[in-house]
Amino acid sequence: MSDAPDAPDAPDKVREQCIEPRRPDRRRFLASMLAAPLLPLVSRVVSADVLSRLATYRSRDHIVVVGAGVFGGWTALALLRAGARVTLIDAWGAANSRASSGGETRVIRAVYNGQPLYSQMVARALVLWHEEEQRWQRQVLFPIGALWMCSDDDSFVRKSIAPMKAVDLPIDELTPADARRRYPQMGFDGVQSVFFEARAGYLLARLSCELVRETFVREGGEYKVALVRPGASSGARMAGVTLSDGSTIDADQFVFACGPWMGQVFLDAIGRRIVATRQEVFFFGVPAGSTQYDPGACPAWVHISDRIVYGIPGNERRGMKVADDSAGEEVNPTTMDRAPSAAGLANARRIVRERFPGLSDAPLVESRACQYEESSDGNYLIDRHPSLENVWLVGGGSGHGFKMGPALGEHVAALVQGRATVHPLFAYGRLRPRPSL
Ligand SMILES: Cc1cc2nc3c(=O)[nH]c(=O)nc-3n(C[C@H](O)[C@H](O)[C@H](O)COP(=O)(O)OP(=O)(O)OC[C@H]3O[C@@H](n4cnc5c(N)ncnc54)[C@H](O)[C@@H]3O)c2cc1C
Repeated sequence: MSDAPDAPDAPDKVREQCIEPRRPDRRRFLASMLAAPLLPLVSRVVSADVLSRLATYRSRDHIVVVGAGVFGGWTALALLRAGARVTLIDAWGAANSRASSGGETRVIRAVYNGQPLYSQMVARALVLWHEEEQRWQRQVLFPIGALWMCSDDDSFVRKSIAPMKAVDLPIDELTPADARRRYPQMGFDGVQSVFFEARAGYLLARLSCELVRETFVREGGEYKVALVRPGASSGARMAGVTLSDGSTIDADQFVFACGPWMGQVFLDAIGRRIVATRQEVFFFGVPAGSTQYDPGACPAWVHISDRIVYGIPGNERRGMKVADDSAGEEVNPTTMDRAPSAAGLANARRIVRERFPGLSDAPLVESRACQYEESSDGNYLIDRHPSLENVWLVGGGSGHGFKMGPALGEHVAALVQGRATVHPLFAYGRLRPRPSL
């Protein structure tokens, strides 16, 4: 929901700001033990190819990461910590207002339509987000829980129960009557089944990307603001990249994590395999002095009917966030007009009336127009360029990538360093270009 689930088979979606260091508790320890096997799972078979690359990987290889959004930022940090020399470059800066990682908040949840790999990745991401929070001494993950409301078919949630249990992430079914009693400020008309995901919640998006970038620089990474163009290829290798200041950078390997720009940066290899779609997000003001719509009193929430809508309370004092997860029209992320549409606002008001009757007349206090980087099947792309062996393509977050940042970065670093193999769910070869408009 954006994190929300959108394709049937593929996924698609408190405390004070400064926190005390957290002692590892049993739950977290267990989750980390269970989630840690993610990489071996992704890697499953250590092939001869992996072994030979491992043998040739030099820990001080220079790696250029293009894009400092949640995918590129965490990848750069993981590579740096794994001993590489890393240059991270972004055209406008980490989580800038055009980037898909911009804005204040994102849902984190492990309900994933029964797809175990995603629930495992979330379990691993939870561990890594918490570890980094301790280093930062700053809370960015608010585990206020997520309430899943289903009008009809609840299989997206129900199928996720077993994979979540397998990684020690709880999810409980409530009756609609129980849910009504627990959350009297919410509306449940038309809701047939309800589930509460206790470890879910929300992440601070823009802030955490900036913290990752700062940490990367503090730990010795090189960071630049520039537009990057892929350089010429020499055989099966990219020789270097060109920056908007006219300079060029050569490196051993390149990771392109360009979010919704992937299709523009690689017109042939990506093109319409990943498209940017317009997504609008609205924030409604809550009554002065009220606490019932605060994070904690109110969970993150998702309503699944013929479409998926969702919201997050609070949002760093920006009000109740409401969004429709349906993919919008295709856009150019550089030039799109980010003023909200009248139709989008009317739809958001309808959603608020249904789910929060007490906010029916709430004023719109802010809005954002962002974009998903929709892959052709809603799954991520984490694979080598089809013809350039030293180029990695990392994107296709498809409205549900943010939460995965640290786990995904860890996996990409392992791939680049020859410690993992590409998972078929994320393989380049399965992507299909959409028909031209
Ligand atoms: C409205 C909305 C709601 C969402 N909700 C959720 C949610 O609740 N939970 C969740 O998990 N996910 C959610 N997502 C999805 C998630 O935010 C994205 O999948 C994720 O942020 C994608 O990150 P990225 O790093 O791939 O892309 P980006 O954040 O877009 O980063 C790409 C970066 O590359 C840079 N760049 C591009 N081209 C170049 C170039 N040629 N040279 C230099 N730099 C370049 C850009 O400036 C940009 O900073 C949501 C997305 C949106 C839009």
